[in-house]
Amino acid sequence: MKIILKVDDFWGPTKRFSDFFKLIADLNIKICLGIVGKGAVKMTPEQCAEIIGLNKNIEIFNHSWAHIISDEIKEFWHTDVYYQAYSLRVTNKIIKEKFGVDCEVVGFPANAFSENTLEILSKFPDIKRVFYLKGWNHYDELSALKKIIDINSNGAIETDMKVDVNRLKGAFESGVFSDKEVITFQLHPSAWSEQSFGEFKSCLDFLIALGAEFIFTNQL
Ligand SMILES: [Zn+2]
Repeated sequence: MKIILKVDDFWGPTKRFSDFFKLIADLNIKICLGIVGKGAVKMTPEQCAEIIGLNKNIEIFNHSWAHIISDEIKEFWHTDVYYQAYSLRVTNKIIKEKFGVDCEVVGFPANAFSENTLEILSKFPDIKRVFYLKGWNHYDELSALKKIIDINSNGAIETDMKVDVNRLKGAFESGVFSDKEVITFQLHPSAWSEQSFGEFKSCLDFLIALGAEFIFTNQL
């Protein structure tokens, strides 16, 4: 069983992310970390060193420049091609400057994107893989352009920003994962309570006991 942990919304160092990084380093687990360009641009070299030092555990993905989410407008939805191109390119540039990484993966804020995004991606060979939430539009067009990383088990670890190990165990017992070669979970540790962080540790213990292999998207 292969597992991808898609960890969203890294705007810069926080106590929670420090604890989170320590946990994955101690357990030697791989995660995919969504960097928001507008936050990362303010990071000092010392702050970047923490993430660079964890390059065996962290695969960085582009999580947009400003992470706009409202009812009317999202970073890659109801925005024009110029803004979207800027958001993708400037964030990849910051990721390269700050962390020395040629970022090949994007995960859109709220997983929302548009036909404009398809146009941009068709001209952006650096990005090779895209996180995709089931049920959104343009699956066929997107999969013709890039490798899709299906977020196929959103909610089993975290629902409404709350983590519950019993929900995860229940999901496995019900067999919803039995046909899945790779299980991708989406997580927002910056929004978790202390209790949810504790539950997440239990989730990892449970998954490790099942023999899970945590992978990067570039291992697919
Ligand atoms: Zn996000």
